Amino acid sequence: MSTTDSATVVGEERLLIDGELRPARSGRVFETVNPATAEVLGVAADGDATDMDDAIGAARRAFDTTDWSTNVARRVAGLRQLQQAFERNADAIRAMTVAETGSPLSFTYSAQLDAPVGSLGWVADLAESYQWETDLGNAEPLGIPSHRWVRREATGVVGAITPWNVPHQINLAKLGPALAAGNTVVLKPAPDTPWCATVLGRLIAEETDIPPGVVNVVASADHTLGAILSTDPRVDQVSFTGSTATGRKVMASAAETIKKVFLELGGKSAFVILDDADLRGACATAAFTVCTHAGQGCAITTRLIVPRAQFDEAVESTSKVMAMLPAADPTDPGTMCGPLISSRQRDRVEGYLRLATEEGGSFVLGGGRPEGLDAGFFVEPTLIVGLPNSSRVAQEEIFGPVLVVIPHDGDDDAVALANDSAYGLSGSVWGGDRDRAVGVANRIRTGTVGVNGGLWFSPDMPFGGYRQSGVGRESGVAGFEEYLETKSLAEPA
Ligand code: NAD
Repeated sequence: MSTTDSATVVGEERLLIDGELRPARSGRVFETVNPATAEVLGVAADGDATDMDDAIGAARRAFDTTDWSTNVARRVAGLRQLQQAFERNADAIRAMTVAETGSPLSFTYSAQLDAPVGSLGWVADLAESYQWETDLGNAEPLGIPSHRWVRREATGVVGAITPWNVPHQINLAKLGPALAAGNTVVLKPAPDTPWCATVLGRLIAEETDIPPGVVNVVASADHTLGAILSTDPRVDQVSFTGSTATGRKVMASAAETIKKVFLELGGKSAFVILDDADLRGACATAAFTVCTHAGQGCAITTRLIVPRAQFDEAVESTSKVMAMLPAADPTDPGTMCGPLISSRQRDRVEGYLRLATEEGGSFVLGGGRPEGLDAGFFVEPTLIVGLPNSSRVAQEEIFGPVLVVIPHDGDDDAVALANDSAYGLSGSVWGGDRDRAVGVANRIRTGTVGVNGGLWFSPDMPFGGYRQSGVGRESGVAGFEEYLETKSLAEPA
């Protein structure tokens, strides 16, 4: 049976507020849609400002009046229960995830589901072994003999605002460390993928001992409901993942109450091939990467920067592999490139395809909608040549399976092109000489870089952006510490 058959897909309509699974106070609901078929899968409660107010109040109470923030063992147990709950329900959640996100089934065995679930165990282990206090010994600051120590403690109430592209990854990459650190959370997911968050709420309510109010999930059709999290004085920190444009608004509105702001934003990452690289291997990897989940990944490399002398060969090689990864039914285990999330997103990508020709580019492959997939929101994997790095298509985030090939004139030029971007999220460097390739990787101003196909994506590796790709780091010890305050204490020595 198909995993996107709505009869087999089980979602969750209710919000989670103060330990209770409940409808929105207004009683309103909104639809969640399968992007591969445009079929309505079901509905989710449409939370509004009153629900958000309840959720923030519950999170504040849970932080201020329970032992959640100080009881590490309780938090570790809760996170392990949550991981087990996901694992017990993996088949149903996998089917729901493919149906709601349009993600290829194969991708759910990695970043779309299994990897983020596994990361809960990693962060629970970290909380168990973490050194919460560091003794700095005695000193005589300003002549006063003192014994000093530094203590790390939870920030407080965290407002988490998340996008639709890899919802479990981002929901759990925020929830896991925030909870492990002792915070309480209000999660506001994207309206395109409410169930990925409300199902998480149900697991917490029904299959863990995480206390009421510690996690609250407020789905809503209203994009701007999350803005309350960045203005409400009861919220201590906003953790946002989404577009740079929205991140800018979140940061500005959080300024009023001087919140800690953590931002994971967009990207336009470069895949740099040096002149001594395994060209075919590199091109195949670049092709595979941009087709994955129809290019809907913030860290996906979307500018292919190749030696001018090997330009034609690189284009041909990349195009051949992309042609083998067509847009197709995401429930087929062989599919890498599924649909875009919505007709709105497809309009956006198609706008960039029109712009590519207006700017003087041409399509080596794709450029339109695939035949025979009319119901869903598909576009063809598209390879574009003839555009300079300064073109809008090479500078702006498209968030579709669209790759622009740009020639370079040596390592310095390649580095300059890679860094000529408002973003700074990720990248890839391929070269035959390992030290030379790593040297180039070190000069690329982004938060992550893979060399010769090495992959940085794992729970212990910090992930985040330079420049307009964000502030702060997700995952790793750095990601955990984003959710901690630092307190310095002293007593007479
Ligand atoms: P988006 O910015 O439109 O929305 C992200 C979230 O913010 C959603 O929950 C949305 O409802 C909410 N939102 C929208 N307007 C808001 C406002 N004014 N105030 C508060 N919240 C608001 O992004 P999207 O379309 O959902 O996701 C795609 C974007 O996310 C891409 O730009 C992608 O690069 C980025 N992304 C970044 C990372 C990363 O880790 N750097 C990961 C995944 C996605």
